[in-house]
Amino acid sequence: MSTIAAISTPNAAGGIAVIRISGDNAIAVAKRIFIPFGEKCIDTMEGYTCAYGIAHSGGERIDDCILTVFRSPHSYTGEDIVEISCHGGLFVSKKILRAALKNGAVTAEPGEFTKRAYINGKIDLTQAEAVMDIIAAKSEVELKMAESLREGTVYKAAKKCSERILKLLSGLAAWTDYPDEDIPEVEPKALLAELSKIYNDLSALVSDYDRGRILREGVAAAIVGRPNVGKSTLFNCLSGCNRSIVTDIAGTTRDVVEESINLGDIKLRLSDTAGIRDTDDVIEGIGVEIAWKTVEAAELIIAVFDGSCPLKADDIELIKKIKNKKCIAVINKSDKDTAIEEQILKENFIHLVYISAIDNIGISELESAVKEVFEANPESISMTTAANERQRLCIEGALESVKEALDALKYGEMLDAVNVLLDEAEQKILELTGEKITDVVVDEVFSRFCVGK
Ligand code: GDP
Ligand code: MG
Repeated sequence: MSTIAAISTPNAAGGIAVIRISGDNAIAVAKRIFIPFGEKCIDTMEGYTCAYGIAHSGGERIDDCILTVFRSPHSYTGEDIVEISCHGGLFVSKKILRAALKNGAVTAEPGEFTKRAYINGKIDLTQAEAVMDIIAAKSEVELKMAESLREGTVYKAAKKCSERILKLLSGLAAWTDYPDEDIPEVEPKALLAELSKIYNDLSALVSDYDRGRILREGVAAAIVGRPNVGKSTLFNCLSGCNRSIVTDIAGTTRDVVEESINLGDIKLRLSDTAGIRDTDDVIEGIGVEIAWKTVEAAELIIAVFDGSCPLKADDIELIKKIKNKKCIAVINKSDKDTAIEEQILKENFIHLVYISAIDNIGISELESAVKEVFEANPESISMTTAANERQRLCIEGALESVKEALDALKYGEMLDAVNVLLDEAEQKILELTGEKITDVVVDEVFSRFCVGK
């Protein structure tokens, strides 16, 4: 394999920048562009050791740098790696990279270092995917999930199932291929029991997928309600900035205003919408129409009501329309006397929260309600869970085949059929771990990576 090089730090000025070189010729390339101070020789440097020296291009000094050596196989990629840490100017780091490229290295593709770690058997494909998840993590729980994936929890659990399927397969093969030999007959009852166990263990890898996805990717949430109930005030309160215009003039918000926010552990892609009411104003009418579309697309409706006055016809209309969605009823203006018919709201909503958006009161109760709606309590979510659609589909595929195999057994079909189905399940697990997979899928996985990782 070629020796690759890239700048692994962000494409911006910083304290230091790191140029990473990986491959059989990494040491040779480094020798051509780096001179250690003193007696040190790069050739004899052991893994995990550093040298201080000068990076140069054809003898022309570029910068004083630190060079770190990682020896194969004890490196990120499994190959020899040299990392040069220079002053974090873009010009300096690009000059050193160019020197490396002139002296035998080729430009690394996005994610190619991690791809090599995968190709060289340092990690499986789920662990490679975890690397990107760690980089992309924006909350404690996302990082925890990504770390668990990187440690190989999903890989190990899937691998265990795969080994058990293989054992069943070899038993079946021996029995069907050599019927005349004295091989103990496959006991359908035992087979059924073992397959059921495998089915349960595989199911556990996807059972928390949706709840985990909500913590990772967040929820599309729409704040809706009739004009002047305090939607924009709540939106601004949650987003921590004055994005949405607040006035006591009904029909102020006309467009949908969006912001990504963290409400405790849950990310909300929050939309503030135009107040929903019957209107003759053409522009406001378009706003109301957009509000309804936003309601349709939202995974969570935060329906705001003004607690200081009785429900109006527009409130009742809204209640009717959102009945079948995941909803939280928010009774706003709790700083004023209550005049709203609470009973009607209690009859129509499971989750009811009193807030004063203007005084920032009741927000933690709203946060708890969101958690409840999605059962997204990080403490109760399994960390050994498929982390993306690719992984989920592989596991679901394996589950489907195991389920069919179970049915085949129950209905007394030939063991040949069971054999074929189990083989299909096995292939799906190998696809999950990346042990048997097409280049297209591998390229697709690594195309999401940044250069230098
Ligand atoms: P929207 O039309 O639903 O977006 O409502 P706004 O957020 O624009 O607020 C309408 C009016 O209600 C403004 O005068 C706000 O100051 C007022 N308001 C909003 N929230 C509260 C609250 O919690 N308490 C009180 N007393 N007034 C509020
Ligand atoms: Mg508004």
